[in-house]
Amino acid sequence: MNTTNRPVRTRFAPSPTGFLHLGGARTALFAWAFARHAGGTFILRVEDTDLVRSTPEAVQGILDGMAWLGLNADEGPFYQMQRMNRYSAVVQDMLTAGTAYLCFSSPEEVEAMRDAARARGAKPRYDGTWRPEVGKTLPAIPVDRQPVVRFKGPLEGVTAWHDIVKGPISFANEELDDLIIARPDGTPTYNFCVVVDDLDMGISHVLRGDDHVNNTPRQINILKALGASLPEYGHVPMILGPDGEKLSKRHGAVSVMEYDTQGYLPEAMINYLARLGWSHGDDEIFDRETFIKWFDAEHLSGSPSQWDPKKLNWVNNHYIKQANNQSLASLIKPRVLALGGIPDQVDLSAAIGLLKDRCDTLVQLADAAMLFCGEPATPDPALVAQHMTAPAMVALSDLTNQLASVIWSQEVISQTIKAVLSKHKLKMPQLAIPIRLAVAGTTQTPAIDAVLSIMGSKLALTRLLQHTT
Ligand code: GLU
Repeated sequence: MNTTNRPVRTRFAPSPTGFLHLGGARTALFAWAFARHAGGTFILRVEDTDLVRSTPEAVQGILDGMAWLGLNADEGPFYQMQRMNRYSAVVQDMLTAGTAYLCFSSPEEVEAMRDAARARGAKPRYDGTWRPEVGKTLPAIPVDRQPVVRFKGPLEGVTAWHDIVKGPISFANEELDDLIIARPDGTPTYNFCVVVDDLDMGISHVLRGDDHVNNTPRQINILKALGASLPEYGHVPMILGPDGEKLSKRHGAVSVMEYDTQGYLPEAMINYLARLGWSHGDDEIFDRETFIKWFDAEHLSGSPSQWDPKKLNWVNNHYIKQANNQSLASLIKPRVLALGGIPDQVDLSAAIGLLKDRCDTLVQLADAAMLFCGEPATPDPALVAQHMTAPAMVALSDLTNQLASVIWSQEVISQTIKAVLSKHKLKMPQLAIPIRLAVAGTTQTPAIDAVLSIMGSKLALTRLLQHTT
C-alpha cells in the first residue's frame, strides 16, 4: 500500500544497545519486505547516539543478524554519530526560522513547573517561559547557563495520522511539551535525529514497534515545521511469549544468532517471523520470494502476536526436509566435528537424506548423524538380554557372514535380511532389533537396511562382528 506516490524507501533503525532480538528482526523483516514488494529501497540506520549504552559488539551483532537472515540493505549502514554536523545545522536552521528557540530554564526550574502543573491537576509540562511569542518579553538571560534548544510546537489542535497498522491515531497538541531538540552541550536528542534522518533519507514509510507511537506526533510536528512531506507510519505490536507475557530469555529475548546456534535455518526464521503479526489467508509456509510477492501492510495485525516455539520447530522441520542434502551436509559437518564425530566416515549427504525428516533442528540432525559418524553407544544390558537371544544371535551371525560377501546396496541388504529371517523362521523385529543394538547401540533407528547401506560395509560389518564373534 503506497498511498504517498513517493518512491518507497523504508528503514530499519536499531539502537545498538543490545543484540538483534526477535522483535527487532521482525521489524526489520517487515520494513525490508515492504520495500522489496514495492521495488523500493531498504535502508539500515544505526541509532548509536546513546554513547553510554551503545557498543561496537551490539553493532556487529545487528549486522551479523541481518546478514544471517539475508535482510540486505540497499543503503547504509548509516551511523547517527557520523551525522552530528548535519543535526547541528538543522538546529541552527530552525532557530533562524523561529521554529525552535533557546530555553534557559534549569532542570530544577523545569521540575518545579511540572510540579506546579501536577498540583493544578494538569499534565506535567514545561510552561513555555522561554517560548517567544509576538509581543512577549522574555526573561533576562541568566549568566553562565547553557541553554537547551526547544522545538516550538503547536499549542492547539491535534496531530493525527492514519497508522498503516493501527488505523487512525491522534494526539492533542496541548499534551505535547515543547520538545528539547538539543542539549546544553549542543548534542541533538533522540526524536530530533530520527526526524532529520527520515527527512534526509527520503523515508516514505516508517514501520516500527508500537513502543514508538508516542514519539510519532512529536516527530510529525517537527517534520511539518521543516516543511517536509510526511512519511506513512505503521506501528507493529509487540511479540509476546508463549505465556502471553513479555518475551523472556527462555523464549525469544535472545539474539537471533542464538537461533543459528540452536540449528534453525534462516529461511525458516524468515517464514516464521513473517507470520508473527502478518497473514496471507491460512498460509503458513511460503518462501522468501513468495513472502515478498504477498507482503502487504493491510494484513499486518493490530494485536500482539505470540511466540510459539513448537510452531517454529514445525516450520524449521519443513525447511530441513526440503533442503538439499548436500547443503545440509555442509551445515552439519562442523556440528558433527564438534560432537567428536568423523563426518567423512560415511556419505554424509546420504545419511542426512535418511535422517532429516525426523529432525526439527540442525542440532538434532547432527546428533542423529552421529549414528554414522560416531562410535555406537554401548547397548543397555537389559535390552541386550531381552533381544539378543540365542536364536536371534545365530541368525545375526548367519546374516553377518552372508553380508560379508554381497555387493553392498540397500536392496541386496534387504533381500539378505529377508532370506535370513525365513531361514531362521524369525519375524523382522526379532532380527532388526539385534542388528540395531549391534551397529547403533539402540533399538531405534530408521529402516535397518537403509542404515546398514549408508553405514557402508566396512563399518557395518566391523560393528556386527564385534557382537557375533
Ligand atoms: N532506534 C529505535 C529502536 O531501536 C527505533 C527508532 C525508529 O524506528 O524510529 O527502538
